[in-house]
Amino acid sequence: MHPIPATALACALLFAGHAFAAEPALPQLKAYTVDESWLRPVEPRQIADHTWRIGTEGILALLVKTDAGAILIDGGMPQAADTLLAQMRELGVEPGDLELITHSQAHGDHVGPLAAVRRATGATLVSNAESAVLLAAGGSDDIHFGDEIVYPPAHADRIVHDGEAIELGGQRLTVHFMPGHTPGSMAWTWTDMRDGRPLRIAYVDSLSTPGYRLIDHPRIPRLVDDFRRSFDVVRALPCDLLLTPHAGAGRHDGDGAPLTCRAYADKSERALDAELAKQRGDDN
Ligand SMILES: [Zn+2]
Repeated sequence: MHPIPATALACALLFAGHAFAAEPALPQLKAYTVDESWLRPVEPRQIADHTWRIGTEGILALLVKTDAGAILIDGGMPQAADTLLAQMRELGVEPGDLELITHSQAHGDHVGPLAAVRRATGATLVSNAESAVLLAAGGSDDIHFGDEIVYPPAHADRIVHDGEAIELGGQRLTVHFMPGHTPGSMAWTWTDMRDGRPLRIAYVDSLSTPGYRLIDHPRIPRLVDDFRRSFDVVRALPCDLLLTPHAGAGRHDGDGAPLTCRAYADKSERALDAELAKQRGDDN
């Protein structure tokens, strides 16, 4: 160790104090905190012969079980990985049985644990090109949120295109691109059986604009056009049963009954129009 003369050290400290005295302290890191219902695990619930709801009360994760293994759609918050693995085990799906993982959007409250689940299971992570960029960045540099909602980055193993299907053990899930809430937002549709009859399930991404600048956004100037096209996509989905990543979004405010895909798109379009009017007013 080299001794530093006391006077030199004093000078250095004095100088350092001088140079930075006028600068404010750097901000503390803030955790991404959410409603507690987003963190409260559910008992696995059967939706149809092959389709189960797992995850938490507020945020859906879906498991499609087949004789050839299982498919996980969405995972929820980053801290949900162990819960998901336990819920899958409860349904008889060991980590090695999970073949495919996919998702709705690449925000941290829906894909947060996917890197950990992929690592624990060896499953193939399926995404689309827009979402894969955000997944690889761990949610950073988000168009609307910047670095506010980051999560462990995940590597997409397979990229699907609009209208493409993934298949496992007789279950065939088709993807429908619906950019808006995120540029890579996706709906997934498949036909399962319930009470001996076919049930067309539509798992449809968020259509909300939480705090988004809608007009003249420098990074996504055609955002509203994207939303309008996506409302039409959602209206046209095969949809006996609508499910949404946020449990309440696809349900009636009053009785909590599931909305039709058309009603969900209509409701979301009214909300977008109201927000647009507000932002136009604010600009005047
Ligand atoms: Zn989101």
